[in-house]
Amino acid sequence: MPKKSALSELKRRLRGSVKTDADTLYWKSFDSSKLSFPIEAVIQPKNDREIGTLLKLANKHKVPVTTRGSGTCLTGAASPKEGGWVLDLSGWKKIRVDRETGMAYVETGAVLENIKKRAEKVGWYYPPDPSSKRFCSIGGTIACNAGGMTGAKYGVTRDYIYALEGFLPNGEFVRWASDVRKYVSGYNMKDLWIGSEGTLGVITRAVLRLIPKPPLRWTLLTAFKSDAKALAAIRALTKDRIVPAILEFLDDETVLCAERRTGKPFFPGVGTTPMVLLELDGYKESLERDRKKVLAWAKERGLQFSETYDDEEAEQLWAVRRQSSPAMYELGNTKLNEDIVVPLRKTAHLIRFVNQLKKETGLAIPTFGHAADGNFHVNIMFNRGDKKQERIAEKAVVKLMKTVVAMGGAITGEHGVGLAKSPFLKFQHNKAEIAAMRAIKEVLDPNNILNPGKIFEPYIVWQKTPEKVQLPWDHK
Ligand SMILES: Cc1cc2nc3c(=O)[nH]c(=O)nc-3n(C[C@H](O)[C@H](O)[C@H](O)COP(=O)(O)OP(=O)(O)OC[C@H]3O[C@@H](n4cnc5c(N)ncnc54)[C@H](O)[C@@H]3O)c2cc1C
Repeated sequence: MPKKSALSELKRRLRGSVKTDADTLYWKSFDSSKLSFPIEAVIQPKNDREIGTLLKLANKHKVPVTTRGSGTCLTGAASPKEGGWVLDLSGWKKIRVDRETGMAYVETGAVLENIKKRAEKVGWYYPPDPSSKRFCSIGGTIACNAGGMTGAKYGVTRDYIYALEGFLPNGEFVRWASDVRKYVSGYNMKDLWIGSEGTLGVITRAVLRLIPKPPLRWTLLTAFKSDAKALAAIRALTKDRIVPAILEFLDDETVLCAERRTGKPFFPGVGTTPMVLLELDGYKESLERDRKKVLAWAKERGLQFSETYDDEEAEQLWAVRRQSSPAMYELGNTKLNEDIVVPLRKTAHLIRFVNQLKKETGLAIPTFGHAADGNFHVNIMFNRGDKKQERIAEKAVVKLMKTVVAMGGAITGEHGVGLAKSPFLKFQHNKAEIAAMRAIKEVLDPNNILNPGKIFEPYIVWQKTPEKVQLPWDHK
C-alpha cells in the first residue's frame, strides 16, 4: 500500500485532478475482464505537465500507475493489479483531420469510431476496425496494437501510426517520430511503444495515417457443408489473389448461437452449417470484377448464399456475426475468449483440433474469426462454480495454447497478453526472448511503476471471480 504522504503530495500538486471517491475508485478498478483490484486514487490530468508530475511522484514514492483509456480491454491489461494510482486519459478527446495531407492528429482518449467518422466525412478512411470501436480509445488501441475485421487487406493499428507523443515511466516528455511520411532517425521507439500494453510509457497524442475511403462495399454470406469445405474455399480465394476487406469464418456452433438469438435460420433448408461472411470494397470497376469471381466461387463451393450492395440488407447478413456472442452465455456462464493466430496454411488443422477438443472435453467451444488473418476467437464456455468443468476448461486452454505455438502461431493475435495470457508466455518465448523484453522494461522503468504485474508474471485469471457488473459494451 502506498504511503499516505504520497497521496497527500499528489493531491497537493495536482489539485482538482485527483479523485478518491468510492464510486470513481470502483469503476476504474477493472477493465472489460471485470477483474477488480483496490486502488488509492484516479488521476484525470488537465494537461501534460500534470502527467509528468504524477509519474515523477510515483517514482519518488514507488507507487504503481496503470494508464487507461476506455477500459474495453479483455485481458485485464488495464486492471490495476498492483493497486496504486490509475491514470485515466479518457477525457483527452481532441481530433483534427488534415484533409490535405491525409493525416489525423488525435489525443489519446479519442474514441475510435469518432476518429473514423471524422475522417470519412472528408473522404478519408482510418481502416483498423476492432468490434469495440464505438467505445475503445485510440490510445488503448495503440497500446494493444488492436486488430479487428479488416486486418488481411488493411493491416492493424501499427500500420497507421506516423508518430506518438507522451511520457517515459520516469515522467520525462518524449516524441517518437513526427508528421512526416518517412522517418528513420534513431531506434524505432514508436513501434516499441505500440503493443507494449502501457508498460513502457504513457501515450498522450498520435498522428495517424489515413487512406482514401473506398467508395463501395459489397457483402456476401455463404453457407458451407463443413468447416473443411469453408476453409478450403477461403484458401482458394487467396490463391486467386482476391483480398476481401472482411473475411469472417463462423463454425456451426457459432451460427447456432446467432440463430437462437435472431430466432430464425439464416438459410432455411440447409440447416445450421459453418458460414463465411465476406466483404469486398473499392472502386466500381475492380469491385465488380472481383464480385463476379467471388459469386462463381460461392456457387461452386457453397451450399447457399446471399449478397447485397445495400447497407441495410448487409446489416441483416452481419447478424450472424454480431448476434452470436451474446447467445454463447447459454452454453456456459463463463467464457475463456482466446484470440489465437495460426499460419494460413494451418487454419484447417486448427479447426480440426478445436473440434477434437470439443469432443474430448464435452464443452461448447464456439469458434469464429478473421480467417484471412488466421486469427480465430476460440471461446471455451464453462460453468464457473462447477469444479469439474473449471478443471476441464483450464486443461483445454493450456492444450490450445501449446498446440497453437507448435503450429507456428501465437497465443494472441490482437488482444495482447495482459493478465489473461501471462501463464502462456513461456510457451511462446524462450528464456532469451523473455529476458530481452524484461531488460527493456527494466531500463525504461527501473522502479517498475508503470502497469506492473502484467505480461511477464503468470496470473491465473480463471481463479479470480469477476465483478458482476454490466458494462456499456456488454451484450444485453
Ligand atoms: C466487445 C469488445 C470487442 C472487442 N473487439 C476487438 C477486436 O475486434 N479487435 C481487437 O484487437 N480488440 C478488441 N477488443 C479489445 C479492446 O477493445 C482493445 O484492446 C482496445 O484496444 C482497448 O482500448 P481501450 O481504450 O479500451 O484501452 P484500455 O482497456 O483502457 O487499456 C488497454 C491497455 O492499453 C493501455 N493504455 C490505454 N491507454 C493508454 C495510453 N494513453 N498510454 C499507454 N497505455 C495505454 C492500458 O494500460 C492497457 O494496458 C474488444 C473488446 C470488447 C469489449
